[in-house]
Amino acid sequence: MYDDYDQACQWADIVRGLLEVIERGQVYENDEIPDLSEIGGYWEERLPLHHNGQFVYPGRRVGRLSFYHQWPYEPEECQAERGETIWIMDGRILLCRGCGVDGT
Ligand SMILES: [Zn+2]
Repeated sequence: MYDDYDQACQWADIVRGLLEVIERGQVYENDEIPDLSEIGGYWEERLPLHHNGQFVYPGRRVGRLSFYHQWPYEPEECQAERGETIWIMDGRILLCRGCGVDGT
């Protein structure tokens, strides 16, 4: 899929993002995340490592929605374009249309 240089750049981007978070001491708190069960969904326990090579803010999860189709990809292999997203719960949550990762 990727050559070594591209992969190294992606990992560098992820590490840079993590270092920024550690420096600022910011974490996306679980109690800030709306409960999906009120619309028949849930948040996956597993935390995505990255979003097709792009940094994912720590604490962001994949939303599973029973009323919506299954996401075609896992976050790490997501092929959705940037901006291919869906707002749910009256605009409170933004999910990737490719994998369901929280992008709010
Ligand atoms: Zn995605």
